[in-house]
Amino acid sequence: VASSFIRKLWGRKEAVPAEVQEAHTALERLGQENPLIAELAGQVSACLSAAYAEPVRVAVPSISKEAAAEKLNAGLPLLRGVRLDIDWPAAQRRLEGVVGALVDHGTDGARALARAVRSGRLAIAELASAALAGQPHIIHEHAGALGLDGTLTASVLPLTLFPVLVPIRVGLEPLAAGRWKEGYCPVCGGFPKLGEFRGLEQLRWLRCGLCASEWQFPRLRCPGCGNHDHRQLGYLHVEGEQNKCRAATCEECRQYVKMVATLTPLAPLQLWVTDVATVHVDLLAADKGFSPPM
Ligand SMILES: [Zn+2]
Ligand SMILES: [Zn+2]
Repeated sequence: VASSFIRKLWGRKEAVPAEVQEAHTALERLGQENPLIAELAGQVSACLSAAYAEPVRVAVPSISKEAAAEKLNAGLPLLRGVRLDIDWPAAQRRLEGVVGALVDHGTDGARALARAVRSGRLAIAELASAALAGQPHIIHEHAGALGLDGTLTASVLPLTLFPVLVPIRVGLEPLAAGRWKEGYCPVCGGFPKLGEFRGLEQLRWLRCGLCASEWQFPRLRCPGCGNHDHRQLGYLHVEGEQNKCRAATCEECRQYVKMVATLTPLAPLQLWVTDVATVHVDLLAADKGFSPPM
């Protein structure tokens, strides 16, 4: 990518970005309202602080309209195969910070993870390239080879990459608007963190867990496997909450995506807050043997 085509966006100047502060406040409120999720809310809040501790240098890669259209038509996310100009040492520091926050919260397996990150055996650049190549299983394999908890290792990646992938996505989003039929993100290839039934029409939008992009998706289709047999698609919800938050489930692949009702799109960091606020629906889905897309 020619540097002349790289748009450089320099990060914030103030200590804590307003949206991060808002997320902290919302998470704190959630913990006060529901002591059962206070620990999780505190954990996510601490990880957010670590992820946004330093201003982030962002370079949006240049992709032509034609190349973008060609990729999207082939079902390939825009960033697939694109070399990203990311400040990797800073990203590694973010990873160390996020993992450190988990250590402080006494998360199982976090100490071993912290040692692997500090020693450089677990490098953010490798994890990111596996995720952006659409091969998240490599993260689990790599973690396994180092004797680490694969799920925990995969779980620290989204927050570490969020501060850099969200602005990159914002820069690329105009290219991604339009027809996209896949259940993964049109920009980075990440899986939906959750979905929104938005507005009065209750159109279904999916939201990427790595870059917060949004794309419309049919109500009667599974983002995990593409199954559109309505007899195998269903919903799980807690009594009285069917209009608020449901897990859209698929009997074919046994995966689910949480769907929340919204009026307007959730801001990127609100995705994390909403995810914590609706964790009881994840527990319900897990209890019935469903997993999130991965
Ligand atoms: Zn994405
Ligand atoms: Zn499915």
